[in-house]
Amino acid sequence: MNRVVALIPAAGRGKRMGRETPKASLLLGGIPLLRHTLQKFETCTLVNEVLPLVPPGEISFWAEEIANQPGLKKVRRILPGGDERQDSVFLGLKAVSGQADWVIIHDGARPFVPVDLIERSLTAALRWKAVAAALPAGDTVKEVSREKEVQKTLDRGPLWIIQTPQTFEYRLIVRAYEKAREDRYRGTDDASLVERLGVAVRVIEGSRYNFKITTPEDLVLGEALLPFLK
Ligand code: C5P
Repeated sequence: MNRVVALIPAAGRGKRMGRETPKASLLLGGIPLLRHTLQKFETCTLVNEVLPLVPPGEISFWAEEIANQPGLKKVRRILPGGDERQDSVFLGLKAVSGQADWVIIHDGARPFVPVDLIERSLTAALRWKAVAAALPAGDTVKEVSREKEVQKTLDRGPLWIIQTPQTFEYRLIVRAYEKAREDRYRGTDDASLVERLGVAVRVIEGSRYNFKITTPEDLVLGEALLPFLK
């Protein structure tokens, strides 16, 4: 069996957006943000199921939204997410237990993920078991104190800025999440949980367009890019 499931954590409240509406349902080109992301995974022929995790209060909104989109055939269920991203992903992992060999985890808030990046991520994971999309650091990176005093300038040569998709062998990522829970470890991405197991994670070249929509400015940028990235 080689079932590929895409988990799409989209249960964030979007506080940095400064709006009441959860981020996933904000409109981008008149379409809720998360729908753009789901469509990318629908289009990727290597993906069998797409499982979004949304804010608990938004389940019925999304059930209706998806029911009205006959094109989104791979979304067969929608689940409520947890308090933090890591909780949402863990809920998704448990929900697909016994039904997935490979898991692609991708932020709902990154609607411009190129379909070929999803494909490359999965293809690389088949070989390496744990793969994260990333871009080499283009700017100079400095370590700065709370008082805003520069402590040191890092060598940016080996520094990469990490994105999603992050793709894993199912058994490996579940083990990583279980260990993190046991140790009460909170990571800022999925790969860091695998790294803690001592298992190697590879990066593949991500995309500049694959940015996370976090602030109102990102939404403006997204609107401007939409006609070019359809
Ligand atoms: O908050 P952050 O920008 O790191 O969120 C990244 C992704 O994780 C977003 O798509 C967001 O909706 C999702 N998330 C989630 N559950 C949470 C918090 C964030 O699924 N409790």
